[in-house]
Amino acid sequence: MGEQYFAFADAPRREEYDTCIRCGLCLESCPTFQETGRELESPRGRVQLMAAVAEGVVPLASPSLAATLFSCLDCRACEVACPSGVPIGTLIEKGRAQVVAAERAEPRSGRAPSVGRATRWAVRRVLPYRKRLRILASLVAGAQKVHLLNPLSRPLPVGMRRLSAALPRLTSPSLPVPERPVGGLRQAQPRVGVFLGCVMDAIFGEANAATQRVLAQNGAAVAVPQAQTCCGALAVHAGERDHARVLARQNIDAFLQAGVDFVATNAGGCGAALMEYPEWLAADVNYRDKAREFSARVRDISVLLKEMGFRAPARAARPQVVTYQASCHLHNVMKAGSDPVDLLKQIPDLEVREMPDAARCCGSAGIYNLTHPTMAEALLRRKMADVPEGTETIATGNPGCWLQMLHGVKTYRPGLAVRHVVQILDEAYAREEAATVGDVLPDIEKAR
Ligand code: SF4
Ligand code: SF4
Repeated sequence: MGEQYFAFADAPRREEYDTCIRCGLCLESCPTFQETGRELESPRGRVQLMAAVAEGVVPLASPSLAATLFSCLDCRACEVACPSGVPIGTLIEKGRAQVVAAERAEPRSGRAPSVGRATRWAVRRVLPYRKRLRILASLVAGAQKVHLLNPLSRPLPVGMRRLSAALPRLTSPSLPVPERPVGGLRQAQPRVGVFLGCVMDAIFGEANAATQRVLAQNGAAVAVPQAQTCCGALAVHAGERDHARVLARQNIDAFLQAGVDFVATNAGGCGAALMEYPEWLAADVNYRDKAREFSARVRDISVLLKEMGFRAPARAARPQVVTYQASCHLHNVMKAGSDPVDLLKQIPDLEVREMPDAARCCGSAGIYNLTHPTMAEALLRRKMADVPEGTETIATGNPGCWLQMLHGVKTYRPGLAVRHVVQILDEAYAREEAATVGDVLPDIEKAR
């Protein structure tokens, strides 16, 4: 193996890292730099270290390269701040894949792998398989029922233990779903395929059900292509870009064959990955055009509802004070902007109090809270301190943030609820329907 350069396929390219002019305008946007003040935990430091590897100044096997790349949240706040358009996220992800490939090529190096075996196993062997995930979810649900989950998780690493303690009570995630848009389409009615995700499907299945109902409420013909799989984001975070490409091809085929106009996601991390398929598959002559066609249809649910001409519910399920914690991928990559919070603001009876720096990463960041629990906890503490006083519910748009918020609420702000934006909408529509039925019933009674 050539030790001095990026030695494997799909390496960071000169035109990607050379655009960095070292101005440092990205530094203050970077949560890890904000915490540590260390150049090697900043976007500029990370990009410059990769340039040094590419030029043979630093060896690929350098432990400092692995530490620097894996300590990044891949939250992409730096990309938004960078005036030179450096594709920092892509560079980090390609750099990680090089590190992991080098570790595989030298299994007897004696160094600890950058991503632990259990996480790697979950990413490759569990997350892409809905049946396996559901079996795992059923086992966890069984352990929760007999109060054995916490004792059983005691031997796990700290990050996994925290997440398992934060899990909501799991129920059966299965839900009857239409494979293709249901017949009798009105003209111009958008056909929307719902992307289920792996974690969202197994842990927060009710958000997927709510997504389908809210889309139908807003006039979409909803489909859920059954051949879809995990988006591949967690594989990319773990340096497994080849594995992620396999998943990407499967999703592209599933949704293009379903003939949908849009692919709706309710998970910022997944949606960002789906939008980046053209970059992942740029060298694949059979899929690069299909990847572009697919990604052009991907929308976060909040963005899509706005595009479709969102119908605001008549009132909230209950009056409450809500704040919104923005998923960094939803904000920085999917560019959802204020769309999620705008939807909430249109629901009468909800008081929305904006969280300062809402898109700053909460520390969840894919597998980050498993691989870097100390930094993840520090970022979560800051996030929870930013939750405005008087808040009753934290709304979010990504399952990783959702789990992290559940852990944060339990640890730092007990008593707050955590909900997906789409659930709050769904409950408001349900109340509207119940009220209509309630209004009609007395008339029916009178008519008898
Ligand atoms: S803002 Fe962009 S160009 Fe400036 S140092 Fe950061 S990565 Fe380099
Ligand atoms: S992706 Fe996030 S953590 Fe990584 S360098 Fe950029 S701002 Fe910092």
